[in-house]
Amino acid sequence: MKARVTAHEAAPPLPGPGGEGANARWQQRSVASVWHPCTQMKRLQAVPPLPIASAAGPWLTDHEGKRYFDAISSWWVNLFGHADARINAALKDQLDRLEHVMLAGCTHAPAVELAERLSARTGGVLGHAFFASDGASAVEIALKMSFHSWRNRGLIDKREFVCLRGGYHGETIGALAVTDVALFRDAYDPLLMRSHIVMSPDARQAQPGESAADVARRALADLESMLASRHAHIAALIVEPLVQCAAGIALHDPLYLREARALCDRYQVHLIADEIAVGCGRTGTFFAFEQAAAGSETPPVWPDLVCLSKGITGGYLPLSLVLARDTLYDAFLDDDTARGFLHSHSYTGNPLACRAALAVLDRFDTEPVFERNRVAAEALTAVLQRVNDDPRVSGGLRHLGMMWAFDVRADLADPAFAERFHLAGRQLGLLIRPIGRTVYLMPPYVLDADGAAWLAQRTLDTLDQVLPSTPGSRHAA
Ligand SMILES: *Cc1c(COP(=O)(O)O)cnc(C)c1O
Repeated sequence: MKARVTAHEAAPPLPGPGGEGANARWQQRSVASVWHPCTQMKRLQAVPPLPIASAAGPWLTDHEGKRYFDAISSWWVNLFGHADARINAALKDQLDRLEHVMLAGCTHAPAVELAERLSARTGGVLGHAFFASDGASAVEIALKMSFHSWRNRGLIDKREFVCLRGGYHGETIGALAVTDVALFRDAYDPLLMRSHIVMSPDARQAQPGESAADVARRALADLESMLASRHAHIAALIVEPLVQCAAGIALHDPLYLREARALCDRYQVHLIADEIAVGCGRTGTFFAFEQAAAGSETPPVWPDLVCLSKGITGGYLPLSLVLARDTLYDAFLDDDTARGFLHSHSYTGNPLACRAALAVLDRFDTEPVFERNRVAAEALTAVLQRVNDDPRVSGGLRHLGMMWAFDVRADLADPAFAERFHLAGRQLGLLIRPIGRTVYLMPPYVLDADGAAWLAQRTLDTLDQVLPSTPGSRHAA
């Protein structure tokens, strides 16, 4: 393992563009002027933001030349590393052709091609792409579309939504109403529409002797009783397929998706798949939902609406979109303007963002992305397996595609655990941000086996710094 570490450490730090003290100067100016997202600004005095000057591949470089491995793909958006030559070239070309034009009354090749190519990836089942800018706006759109399409069909009572315990769908008022993360939601609760929260299929809830599929069946029973009693009022169920990421990379059995699809059909409820985090190959298939029918006799099943964002531009530009089925789309076709879907955002379908997305799809079409990831994943998993016998860890390693997670024992993780881990990671050259006591990796798809093993080892080294090996020693300290 030592040799691998050396291989990755070998590159000398780049000369810092700002010289000594440059980091501190940017940190101070940022704290004074930028209101940072997802941050208690008072805390930022003590934990200033990492000032990044440049990036290439999986590496971020600060103003003094120190490198950090982007172990969480810059909040789950990056796919092929930073400053990827192919995406850069596509963007430079697009920049000299058309930077932006409105998508109401106008159209352009990047939006058309992106819509066509994404639809083709669903076998044409989801044939219509509605563009927006951020993940949360895609969720808003999906909720509105579902409600409005039922309304156009005369089913005006269908205006409630069902979501999963621990689910996350974004921070705008509508998206927050189908989100169950107390920290983000509670302050705004008085503003939010009421949704129905049903049991999550999170496999961590397995009782002794229960499999992930058994947990999924229990969650399905809960969903069914909700749909059976309320279906006349319910427009849609929204789920994060295969992984509830913000809940702490909570995995579930694909059986849940297959059977939830069947229940939604039976009770005339739309199924919205929020693939904002899990789409674009993160789980080992382009759409996570492709795995819904895996291991069963069932033919492929699809949701009614799919939300995509984050990785779709390779982490370059804000772009989101909602893919919709013909039946849902057709409900809006009418001579009456008001029965159309009149939602819009100024930058909807921005050509630069769409062009970046096309460059991302080109890479999926022309390179063995999934095979390469499988090789890297094997090497990473091999090293991280060690947490399975680690007394500091509860429940062992979770892994799917290009995501890994383990939970530190509740009694060892104080409330500052995530922050301490993040800061220790910075010292060791990692950008990593645990969710509560869940340590997770979601690296860009640019790892070879050596890099993957290095990343896993460095994560374990960080754990050693934060929780010195003997359990209990932190309490004694
Ligand atoms: C990140 C995320 C969102 C929100 O996307 P933003 O671009 O941050 O608004 C919604 N759903 C899921 C599953 C996400 O991970």
